[in-house]
Amino acid sequence: MIVILRENPDPRQLENLTRWLKSMNLEIHVSEGFHQTVLGLVGDTTRVDMDLIKALDIVEDVKRIQDPYKNANRKFHPLDTVVDISGVKIGGGNFQLIAGPCSVESEEQITCIARAVKEAGATMLRGGSFKPRTSPYAFQGLRDKGLKMLIAAGKAVQMPVVSEIMDISQLDLFADIDVIQVGARNMQNFELLKQLGKTTKPVLLKRGFASTVQELLMSAEYIMSGGNPNVILCERGIRTFETATRNTLDLSAVPVLRNATHLPVIVDPSHATGTARLVPPMALAAVAAGCDGLIVEVHNDPPHALCDGPQSLLPQTFAELAKKAAKVRAALRD
Ligand code: PEP
Ligand code: MN
Repeated sequence: MIVILRENPDPRQLENLTRWLKSMNLEIHVSEGFHQTVLGLVGDTTRVDMDLIKALDIVEDVKRIQDPYKNANRKFHPLDTVVDISGVKIGGGNFQLIAGPCSVESEEQITCIARAVKEAGATMLRGGSFKPRTSPYAFQGLRDKGLKMLIAAGKAVQMPVVSEIMDISQLDLFADIDVIQVGARNMQNFELLKQLGKTTKPVLLKRGFASTVQELLMSAEYIMSGGNPNVILCERGIRTFETATRNTLDLSAVPVLRNATHLPVIVDPSHATGTARLVPPMALAAVAAGCDGLIVEVHNDPPHALCDGPQSLLPQTFAELAKKAAKVRAALRD
């Protein structure tokens, strides 16, 4: 349920209202917009008499929210959420480019790519160290050693770093990682989501490849209802009958999400397409669709990458993409 207040509500009446709502064991999320303040009520609102609230001088309107996600809902929080990642802001008109290898392979590799993507215009560095691989015989990542290399490379080029967590037991190792990524395979690892909800770390939550938009929002709700508002959503392609691409990039998810939620939405064209040649056009299409950022796999030597080489861009190609993305953004502003 949301309570929309009239402009400049009388403070004493507002206090009385909030005290009364809290006495019914409801949690109140206050969202102050330019003209209106919205009170989002979370909890069992079945006993709340809507007409009684509507009759108050300070109240403009009262609405029941049918959607099962509350914290993530734009109706609760009309303005875009801006997530601050160690000083780099995303959402609410702030666009960010996250780039780097699929996996951290060595100190030299991550440092070299970090420099190259920074030079090309990236604002955050990615690098997986705990890798969810389909085959147990494939490279599994450098684990804690890789995280340390990523952190050092990020420091060297002054970029926040993003890396994927696979299990709650790894949480302590991520203390100096700026954004914790929850990958597609873990989008519904609810125990992991609950633990991340107890932190204030920004979380990059990727859509599961067989998950609906609503399921993605419900996973965000797990994190947010625990007290962590810093969630960034990522569309990375879903599994369909089509085999020409690794996944099918559901670009309509971008405007659908932007309407449904106030959280930043980014797109991963690398895992969506699986082919480097297809990454730039889909990345630009994602920008045109209105996303708040891109996460792109970049490698200095794709044919020898230990993971996802075929979909990795060379730094030079990424630099060209970054320039074109800026042009598309400028065109959107015209
Ligand atoms: C990744 O970003 O390296 C990754 C494994 O992505 P996803 O979870 O989307 O497959
Ligand atoms: Mn990858």
